[in-house]
Amino acid sequence: MQYTSTRSKIQPISSAEAILQGLAADGGLFVPEKIPKVSLEEIDALRDKSYEERAAWLLGKFLTDYDEYELGECAELAYNWFDVPARVPVAILIQDPKNPVAPVGSMELWHGPTSAFKDVALQMLPHLMRMALKKVGETKEILILVATSGDTGKAALAGFADVPQTKVMVFYPDGGVSKIQRLQMVTQRGENVNVTAVRGNFDDAQNGVKKIFNDKKIREELDKLNVKLSSANSINWGRLVPQIAYYFSGYVELLKAEQVKLGEKILISVPTGNFGNILAAYYAYKMGLPVKKLICASNINNVLTEFFATGTYNRNRKFFKTITPSMDILISSNLERLLYHETDGNYKLVNRYMTELNTLGKYKVDKKLKTRLDKIFYAEYVTEDETREFIKRMYETFSYVIDTHTAVSICALSKYRGKTRDTTPILSAATASPYKFTSAVLTALGQNVEGVDDLAQLKMLNDLTNAKIPRNLSELANAKILHEDVCDKDEMAERVLQFAAK
Ligand SMILES: *Cc1c(COP(=O)(O)O)cnc(C)c1O
Repeated sequence: MQYTSTRSKIQPISSAEAILQGLAADGGLFVPEKIPKVSLEEIDALRDKSYEERAAWLLGKFLTDYDEYELGECAELAYNWFDVPARVPVAILIQDPKNPVAPVGSMELWHGPTSAFKDVALQMLPHLMRMALKKVGETKEILILVATSGDTGKAALAGFADVPQTKVMVFYPDGGVSKIQRLQMVTQRGENVNVTAVRGNFDDAQNGVKKIFNDKKIREELDKLNVKLSSANSINWGRLVPQIAYYFSGYVELLKAEQVKLGEKILISVPTGNFGNILAAYYAYKMGLPVKKLICASNINNVLTEFFATGTYNRNRKFFKTITPSMDILISSNLERLLYHETDGNYKLVNRYMTELNTLGKYKVDKKLKTRLDKIFYAEYVTEDETREFIKRMYETFSYVIDTHTAVSICALSKYRGKTRDTTPILSAATASPYKFTSAVLTALGQNVEGVDDLAQLKMLNDLTNAKIPRNLSELANAKILHEDVCDKDEMAERVLQFAAK
């Protein structure tokens, strides 16, 4: 399988090259030239396989320049950290067994080392990268630079820690992340990791990193040290492809629980920010997973809801900070891949839309494309009050504790059902542990958290609900602090060079 760009006709490249390059030279995203098909028999055959085996099977469909053993190794190394044997379990929630509506399968994507769904891909990417380096004959070390407002930093650190031929360095705003987020990062072990606080806010840290990426002199210095800069952001194909696997796995779990019959269609609902997770569901659908609708759930930063309703994507709007921070996004980068596939690879048109987005802040898709998107997507947004209400409702009805992002997905589903009376079985993406957003969850459950410290809140939620605290969070209070470096924003480049030389 070869990869091309969403924005122009390029010489097709292998998946190893796509993973190492991240972004195409024309600014476009890498996409597979063809989307592979799978049969129902193949899906059925996943029943008796482990999550690791299912993941390796799916990766093999796209990453044809990796062999079976390599993919098996990637999957083993990526998921041995996950704290349940199923890795990505599906909790089946049935409201009233005597009078069942349709089941909701809550696909828990948060059992990895940082308790959020990005682990599923970020635990895999470093191994895909390490093997890609060998395949293309690259002998330099790769240095992953990350500026984080909290969560991505830890996920990248946990993924790259002690992976050969890689280093990872994370900058976070000093005093600008939560106590738990800071502890998660500064206690990270590994010979190849560095965590540095920057005096300033997140934008300072992010601009600093961008500057380093664009600085030719620093790149030359790094070159002398045999080091190459890279990033691990969510548009990398190596982050997207591991996410496709869990939609197949989730369907198989519904099959095994006898909530669907082989071939029966399901609804998939995804709390959406950068459009990566739901795009993975779209690929699964295009490959042959029986899906009736993909429900794109947003918070009040509802740029995608408007896009799917009207065909106009318009980022010129007010930006809100919400209790679902991972969805506080106005440019959903991965949407570009959807536009490419749903125009049958019309890169000229995609290029025009992306140029308009860049210059005018908006674009309107043509009628034909809009009609095609309507066939498979449904979009809905959810307010902050509704989010809290659904956390409470899910706890009261099912004794099931969910985080704020997961609540947005379930609430959007409920709105969809209210409007359509559609009783198709559901797979809903649960993207973070409730302990990741403890304060908002406790508040939704009617508790007063004023003056209660982050770590004490973990215990408070545990006392209230009995939901298990993920190990990575419960161990934080006693973990050894390993990274205490602080720097000014104009010292960042120097720190990068120092770390690269180590
Ligand atoms: C990143 C994230 C999302 C959004 O996923 P996208 O792939 O960016 O659409 C939703 N929930 C949580 C908890 C996240 O961390």
